[in-house]
Amino acid sequence: MADVEKVHCLIIGSGPAGYTAAIYAARANLKPVLYQGLQPGGQLTITTDVENYPGYPNGIMGPQMMIDFEQQAQRMGADIRWGMATKVDASVRPFRVEIDEEKWIEADALIVATGASAKWLGLESEQRLNGHGVSACAVCDGFFFKGQEVAIVGAGDTACEEALYLSKLCSTVHMLVRRGEMRASKVMQARVLNTPNIKVYWNSETKEVMGEHKVDSIKILNHETKEETVIPVKAFFVAIGHTPNSNLFKGILDMDDQGYLITVPGTSKTNVEGIFACGDVQDKNYRQAVTAAGSGCMAALDTERYLGALEHAAH
Ligand code: NDP
Repeated sequence: MADVEKVHCLIIGSGPAGYTAAIYAARANLKPVLYQGLQPGGQLTITTDVENYPGYPNGIMGPQMMIDFEQQAQRMGADIRWGMATKVDASVRPFRVEIDEEKWIEADALIVATGASAKWLGLESEQRLNGHGVSACAVCDGFFFKGQEVAIVGAGDTACEEALYLSKLCSTVHMLVRRGEMRASKVMQARVLNTPNIKVYWNSETKEVMGEHKVDSIKILNHETKEETVIPVKAFFVAIGHTPNSNLFKGILDMDDQGYLITVPGTSKTNVEGIFACGDVQDKNYRQAVTAAGSGCMAALDTERYLGALEHAAH
């Protein structure tokens, strides 16, 4: 049989939720082991300036902030490792988690902080200008385009909410909707359509994001009229949904129809006792670094109580 290692508290994921859980768990002497996953630092490593995380009065670059989180967790004694959880067996106690398809970890408690990934259109130019005017988070990056013209693609509640947010900062928000109608709730649609500086383009597909080193315009195609239009904008926001990284837990943890893990409201508890979830994998609503960090703290505190009760019962 492959290698097996026993740990007390295992954390999967290395965004603000995972690292905060590690800081708290380490300070509570739970000897946490954290596996970082495919993208150490998570979604913040693909952003630039972060100005809305309290405690950084001059702002901070997203990747640097995640290095700070990691170092703080390490200083508290968390064991941070490169590696990816590839299988979970929650039918046994301790739980068993396979890492990199080659070794198994046995864990008394498990904290899931695997995050979510923004969906992208898949254009080469979108990727090239990511972080240079292309963003998947208006709340994070809208501020940098104060008074400018920007575009947003998407037609769900998130796109509407972000378009409204941008409309308060930017001179004009060009909103690109691929069909002749929006998926968003009627109330959100009405708000968007009644906002004078949001201009909605129906049946419109983004063909290209243009600009040498930063975004300067976009090219769109109207499917009805077959007309191509170039719109000068300084930023291009993609709001076409997120995918929670929860595949590993299919059939094990309760999730909603989009794959977000379901936790008991006000806690980080999942339907399996001893498995806790925090951060974006269980939050489709707020999705902020600070809310993820807060929920990571909750997961560590819930884990501490769970492990305390387990030890008490064993004596
Ligand atoms: P949704 O999946 O609801 O919407 C995604 C939108 O992106 C759709 O309009 C879809 O178009 C569009 N889209 C997808 N792919 C492309 C593409 N390649 N090109 C152009 N457009 C594309 O995601 P959301 O993030 O908006 O919302 C996720 C969930 O969270 C929903 O249940 C939503 O209601 C909820 N939510 C609720 C909020 C609230 O109540 N305040 C706030 C934010 C989210 P199409 O319609 O054509 O498929």
